[in-house]
Amino acid sequence: MEILYRSTRTEGSAVTASQAILQGLADDGGLFVPERIPALDVSLGRLAQMDYRQTAYEVMKLFLTDFTREELTACIESAYDSKFDTEEIAPIREADGVFYLELFHGATIAFKDMALSILPHLMITAARKNRMQEEIVILTATSGDTGKAALAGFAGVKGTKIIVFYPKNGVSPIQEKQMVTQKGDNTLVVGIHGNFDDAQTGVKKIFSDQALREEMARKGFRFSSANSINIGRLVPQICYYVYGYARLLAQGKIAEGEQIDVTVPTGNFGNILAAYYAKQMGLPIRRLICASNENKVLYDFFRTGTYDRNREFVLTQSPSMDILISSNLERMIYHIAGDDPRVNRDLMEQLNSRGAYGITPQMREGLRDFCGFYASEEETSAEIRRLYETCGYVMDTHTAVASAAYRKFWNQARESGDEPCKKALIVSTASPFKFTRSVMKALDPKYDAMGDFELADELSALSGVKVPKAIEEIRSAPVVHDRQCDVADMKHVVRDFLHL
Ligand SMILES: *Cc1c(COP(=O)(O)O)cnc(C)c1O
Repeated sequence: MEILYRSTRTEGSAVTASQAILQGLADDGGLFVPERIPALDVSLGRLAQMDYRQTAYEVMKLFLTDFTREELTACIESAYDSKFDTEEIAPIREADGVFYLELFHGATIAFKDMALSILPHLMITAARKNRMQEEIVILTATSGDTGKAALAGFAGVKGTKIIVFYPKNGVSPIQEKQMVTQKGDNTLVVGIHGNFDDAQTGVKKIFSDQALREEMARKGFRFSSANSINIGRLVPQICYYVYGYARLLAQGKIAEGEQIDVTVPTGNFGNILAAYYAKQMGLPIRRLICASNENKVLYDFFRTGTYDRNREFVLTQSPSMDILISSNLERMIYHIAGDDPRVNRDLMEQLNSRGAYGITPQMREGLRDFCGFYASEEETSAEIRRLYETCGYVMDTHTAVASAAYRKFWNQARESGDEPCKKALIVSTASPFKFTRSVMKALDPKYDAMGDFELADELSALSGVKVPKAIEEIRSAPVVHDRQCDVADMKHVVRDFLHL
C-alpha cells in the first residue's frame, strides 16, 4: 500500500517518498513524516535468514513505496558493498552480557555511513523519477560525523554539489582532518565560529529563504538536505534494528518474539526515532533508552515533560551528541499529539521564541516506551575503562555514554521492581579510532602526551583491531578546505560557492 508523507507543521497536501527525499524539509519548515507506520510483512524467522541487503529491502520497500523493486534494489546494492569492511555490514559484539550493534564499519567509521551511503543513490533515483532538471545542492550542518559521511557519499556524484558547515572548535581533530581533506570539485567544507546548534539554525534559515530559493531555481539549482531531517536518512536507519534483532535470533541468543531493550546514544534524535519506528513496525523492542551526555536536554524532557534549551552548551568528549535542539524530536512530538500539526507547530514556535515548551500529561503517555538516562564525562571515561578491563573490548565515547546509561537504567529498573528485559542491544555509533584521544586518555592519562596517529597505533596494539582504512587515508592527506566564517556569513558563503 502506498505511503505518503506529510509535514509536521501544516495540514497541506501529502507528497510521495521520492518527493520528500528531494525536498528534505517541507516548505513550511516542518519535517516530513509517514502518514502511518507500515507493519513488517515477513516473519522474524524469515528475516533471520537474510543478509543486510535483503533485510534493508524488506524494510525500505514498505516506506519508499513509489520506488520500484529494481530501483530500490539498485540503490541498496550500490550502498552496502565493499565500502564496508565486513560482509555482515553491522556486526554484533557481545561484551559483559550485552550486545553491541557495531554500526561503524563503513567508509567514515561512524553510524552516519549506514544512511549516507545510500542517500545519494536514493536522491539521484528520486530526481530521475520526478524528471527534475536542476542540480541538487546538499546543505549540511554537522556536529562532526554527518559531514564526512555526507561528503564521502556525494563527492563526485554527478548532478550534485555539497556544502558542509561544522563548528570550528567543536569537533574532534580526527573528525576535522577527515572533512578538510575531502577531495572532489563539487564539495565545500567550512568551519563556522559557533557551535553545532548555530550551524544547524543557520542552515535551516538558508533553506527557508524564499528569495534565495527563487534565485537558485533561475540558475538551475535546488537545495536538499543530508541531515537526519531528511526521510531518506531516517528510513535506512530503521533497517539495522530489524537486522540486529534478526541476527540475535539467528545466533540463538534470543527466542523468536522475545522482547529486548535498546539503548541509543542520542543527539538529534534521529537514530532513536528509527528504533521507535522499528518497534511500531512490530519488532519486539520493549524499552527505548535514550542516552545523553552532559547536554542532557532530552533526559530532563523525559523526566519532566518540559523541553528547555536555555542552558549552557557543554563541549564533551562525545561531540556528535553535543546538541541542545534535537531536530527529530519534532516528529515524535507530532506523533504524540495524535499526528496534529497545529499542536506541534505551536510548540515549535515556543521553542523558537523562548527556547522551551511543555507537553500535556496525555502526550507524555505517548512517550511511555522511552526513558532517558545520561552519563557525565567522568562516568563515560570510567565505562570505557571498565569494559576494556573486564572484557578487552574498546568502545568509543558515544557508545560509552550509551553503555553507562544502560547500566543506570538496569539498576534503576531492578530497584523499582520493573524487571528489565534479559537481553539488551546497545547501539555502537562510532569506531574508537575516530575518538582515539578521548578513548586512550580514559584508559590511561599517560596517552595524552602522544600524537593522534601514534595513538591510533597504540589503540590497535591494545585492542587487537587493525587501524581502519579511514584513518590510514588521512595520515598524510593534504588539507584542501581551510575556509572559516561567522554564522552571519553562511548565506554569503553559499552564494559565493554557487556563483550567484
Ligand atoms: C550523530 C551521532 C550520534 C547521535 O545520533 P542522532 O541520530 O543525532 O541522535 C551518536 N553518536 C555518533 C558517533 C554520531 O555520529
